[in-house]
Amino acid sequence: MDLGLKNRVVIVTGAASGIGKQVAIAYAKEGAFLALADINLAGLEALAKKELKGANVYFEKVDVTDAKNCEMFVKNVHKHFGRIDVLVNNAGTAKMGDMATFPEETFRAHAELMMYAPVRLINLCIPYFKKNKWGSVVNTASIFGKQPGGLISYDTIKAADIMITKDYSNYLAPMNVNVNAVCPGPVDTPLWYADGQLGDQLAAATGMDKKGAIEWFAKTNIPMERYAKPEEIANAIVFLSSVPAHYITGVALDIDGGMVKGI
Ligand code: NAD
Repeated sequence: MDLGLKNRVVIVTGAASGIGKQVAIAYAKEGAFLALADINLAGLEALAKKELKGANVYFEKVDVTDAKNCEMFVKNVHKHFGRIDVLVNNAGTAKMGDMATFPEETFRAHAELMMYAPVRLINLCIPYFKKNKWGSVVNTASIFGKQPGGLISYDTIKAADIMITKDYSNYLAPMNVNVNAVCPGPVDTPLWYADGQLGDQLAAATGMDKKGAIEWFAKTNIPMERYAKPEEIANAIVFLSSVPAHYITGVALDIDGGMVKGI
């Protein structure tokens, strides 16, 4: 199938690691032009030099929680490529914690990163989508926006992301822009495996070692008994923003090995 993404300009946030990195690689394979944002500049540089060698890539150190930074980035992308076609809102993080004592400042920081930043970036891209008379947005939500994972800030904000997706899908449909979300279950990325991240937090909560805790979680919660590979999420994101999928809008697609129980 021709996805019609050749020479389209795609913004990916949180592109230096995990899902975002594989999203960038997947778009590059389709011949898209890439505009990558992350706070991890060294990660972006390494990606551009290695996995994206030969692709048409623009990247910048961007903190998506900073409104001015986002504004400049989107302007610079347009200046560099002359158009913007696709926005993938992917930057994110997660933290386990007791609900009764979960720090308010962490909750607010997570909302800045995973709720306000996607809204801000969608709004910044709208004028360019209008110019094209075409556009596509994919937000990285989570199955924990559909059923509770016990991560109070994360679950709440990912549920908001699904509603943001639905509201913007209605608002932007007359402008020929589709807006969808992907809802991954657990994915094999640094968000789980890096030091101090969810794997270590789960290990501390269960008294197992990190590897054992992650395997136990997969076996007891995921019908397919394994975490997703980041490529499996990237493929769905690329498809949802493709030309043949353009009539799909307002969808929050589970990619979870069967973990969500609702129909
Ligand atoms: P990751 O930690 O590997 O990558 C996240 C990226 O976001 C990093 O490169 C990080 O530097 C970047 N980032 C963080 N704060 C930023 C900021 N302020 N500005 C710009 N960039 C910033 O994690 P991942 O697993 O690839 O997660 C990507 C997205 O997928 C997140 O939104 C996450 O919530 C979502 N998700 C992940 C899983 C999972 O199990 N890994 C499951 C469902 C949803």
